[in-house]
Amino acid sequence: MGLIEEIKSVAKLVQEAGKLELYEKLLKAQEEALVLLQENRELKEEIKKLKEALTNQEQLLFENNMYWLNKHDGKEGPFCSRCWDINHKLARKHNWSDGDGYKCPACNTYIEIKHRPPQRIQPLYY
Ligand SMILES: [Zn+2]
Repeated sequence: MGLIEEIKSVAKLVQEAGKLELYEKLLKAQEEALVLLQENRELKEEIKKLKEALTNQEQLLFENNMYWLNKHDGKEGPFCSRCWDINHKLARKHNWSDGDGYKCPACNTYIEIKHRPPQRIQPLYY
């Protein structure tokens, strides 16, 4: 039997016995228990989200101003660096323009990967 059902069954017995003051205290305890149960559910959800965020943080690679999830079967992504850095949300970037641009559907951050030719390093002569 759960906490609320337990309080209800005791409250019913107390009410039947005519102990109204005790009955009212049990109703208050029931209300407080409901609030605590709700708070407990929210905290569990928050812990779950934080664990997921921590796991993702450990597996994120930053490349070309975007994040990639490093998975055992390869890279997944790209994901928006702005959304992750500010909100810890993995927002998948959508391919944009003709293949080299990526746009975040959540915040509209646009990244274009520039393909530069390899640069030669010029020796310095004095
Ligand atoms: Zn974004």
